[in-house]
Amino acid sequence: MQITNVHEVLQRCIDYHGHYCAGQSLGVRIAKKGLELVAAEDQKDLIVFVENDRCIADAVLMATGTRLGRRSLKFVDYGKMAATFVNLKTDTAYRVVLKPVDHDKAPRDDGQEEVKERVLTLEDDELLSWKKVKVRLRKEELPGKPERIVNCVQCGEKVFDAKDLDGNGTVAGPFCVSCVRGAYYEASI
Ligand SMILES: [Zn+2]
Ligand SMILES: [Zn+2]
Repeated sequence: MQITNVHEVLQRCIDYHGHYCAGQSLGVRIAKKGLELVAAEDQKDLIVFVENDRCIADAVLMATGTRLGRRSLKFVDYGKMAATFVNLKTDTAYRVVLKPVDHDKAPRDDGQEEVKERVLTLEDDELLSWKKVKVRLRKEELPGKPERIVNCVQCGEKVFDAKDLDGNGTVAGPFCVSCVRGAYYEASI
């Protein structure tokens, strides 16, 4: 699994994302480098962690063939321009980060062909940095059938994939995360 034709892949990213932006070219470059580094032979051996939910996230998922709903793409909410590539078969992982740009010299993100080309043709080390890392994936986080499904003792909703929590101190669980730590939403009338 490698990206050989960056232009073709970029076009697929633009179609999926809905517009061209520098994030698409940058995401393709991050994906290309990550795929080279971990050298997964099969799609099912590849897991990608993407560290933001901005433009590059769409490009990384399209360019790598990973999907959130297939558990091959993991979203980690760090707000960083980075992604980690894991080859499950060889147990190899690399984190690829976009280098900070010199804003005076950086191409303006105005969607021009020239900008697109420049991002696609810069040398890897002008654009990116990368490091070998170790990612510990629990079996409940891998693709495949759910290993654990429980009902929260408080709200009664099902919780998949061992995301449940033990007792809240006074009552034995399992609890869902929102019942123990509070939810991102509030009840409304
Ligand atoms: Zn965009
Ligand atoms: Zn609950």
